Amino acid sequence: MGRTKTGFVGAAIVMASLGISAQQPPSSHWGIVLHGGAGILQRASMKPETEAAYRASLKQALQAGAEILDRGGSSLDAVEAAVRIMEDDPLFNAGRGSVFTADGRIELDAAIMDGATLKAGAVADVTRTRHPISLARAVMEKSPHVFLVGPGADAFSMQAGLEQVDPSFFFTERRWQSLIKELKKEGLPIPNRPAGAPPEPKEPIAEIEPEEAHKFGTVGVVALDRHGDIAAGTSTGGTQAKRWGRVGDSPVIGAGTYASNQSCAVSATGTGEYFIRLTVAREVCALVEYKNMPLQQAVDQVIHKELTALRGDGGVIAITPDGQMAWSFNTPGMYRARQAEGGKVEVGIYNDEP
Ligand code: ASP
Repeated sequence: MGRTKTGFVGAAIVMASLGISAQQPPSSHWGIVLHGGAGILQRASMKPETEAAYRASLKQALQAGAEILDRGGSSLDAVEAAVRIMEDDPLFNAGRGSVFTADGRIELDAAIMDGATLKAGAVADVTRTRHPISLARAVMEKSPHVFLVGPGADAFSMQAGLEQVDPSFFFTERRWQSLIKELKKEGLPIPNRPAGAPPEPKEPIAEIEPEEAHKFGTVGVVALDRHGDIAAGTSTGGTQAKRWGRVGDSPVIGAGTYASNQSCAVSATGTGEYFIRLTVAREVCALVEYKNMPLQQAVDQVIHKELTALRGDGGVIAITPDGQMAWSFNTPGMYRARQAEGGKVEVGIYNDEP
């Protein structure tokens, strides 16, 4: 079972006063939960090979985080490592594979939070950092601030020595075609094909998943390490055809991302405007902290009652320092996976899976 640092320090003081020498903190069991976005994901409209590709990607990211935790690494390191893998994977709407803004650019948002210290770092509208989650971590660890946006965040990224890429690195044909379709539907002007993008294919590209799902694919990870510390991280390209410097919930601490060893760690995905208004991630943790709600009940209450009442759509993943793991979503599907120490890897997409 997990144990807070304060609990251990208290125990150490009692042991010292009894003349018993303090030993290593009792090890807790690690756990990790991740998501790759929620949306209209239905078995009937998903090709078997697409489904298999998503399941394999989710598993690969989960395993990267689990290996770190199993070696006694920190929940923060596990979260960052798993998110980085999904940021590089064009299947997800984070890093490479992100959706486009209405004017044909890619603006990335990410946040990370350390439940042991309540330290947090977040970035929005960054354009050149290969791994926005690592930039969020650099904001947390190497700057006096919590939240950096736009050109300032891009400049900090360079100064902090993070890997820079040309914006065309993030380009995928599938997201571009999806943007054009949506802009036509909304009667908005079609921007020029981005500089550095590969030439337009002669044949139309195959749809790899249902049209509506293109708007989703944000990634998030929550983890508990052997020291009993929890962390959360989220990374996204935001919502397709976003305009005017729009920022969603993902990088907003308390909305799309939150972690506190006093309660839980949460990462959200869905239409961010609703998650910001409900401060979803913090709301889940407040129910756990102040109402002593079991984690599953808390996530279900926020998603199926509060979010649904506002007609918001999406889901969350969560973990507590005592090893409870949960997910909840009100969409037909959410890409997700989890594993507890000694347990089996669970991967799910649709809402009829456990
Ligand atoms: N929550 C993200 C946003 O609103 C999008 C998503 O999770 O699909 O930016």
